[in-house]
Amino acid sequence: MQNNKNTVRKRVTAWDFVLMAVLVCVAVSAIFIQHKSNDELLEVVVKKDSEIVYTQSLSSVSRETDVPIDNEYNIILRVMPDGVQVISSECGDKICVNTGKITRSGQAVVCLPAHISVTLRGGESEADVIVG
Ligand SMILES: [Zn+2]
Repeated sequence: MQNNKNTVRKRVTAWDFVLMAVLVCVAVSAIFIQHKSNDELLEVVVKKDSEIVYTQSLSSVSRETDVPIDNEYNIILRVMPDGVQVISSECGDKICVNTGKITRSGQAVVCLPAHISVTLRGGESEADVIVG
């Protein structure tokens, strides 16, 4: 009787391990897939005050492209397949240039003197909009 119980318990433990391994695999691949799709849906949005003056989906950018943002401060935006950066601006503080490259959804470069904000957005919530 005692022996039998032990055998059953051992088998259950082994199955628990298998189940755990499967769950971990599913969880890891889910995170990976989600992360990947977020990257593919990244979109640059440039606003002056609250008005959108430029948008670009990074998935359609194959190489570095310099984009002048029509503005009194001659801001030049460098759009890359994996991010975006303000490379030149005639504003006083140059905080926008010093911010460097942004690569993730939700990050932003702001130029206060020029009233310009450059943000990256993306993720599941935008999927419908882009695909449609
Ligand atoms: Zn600036």
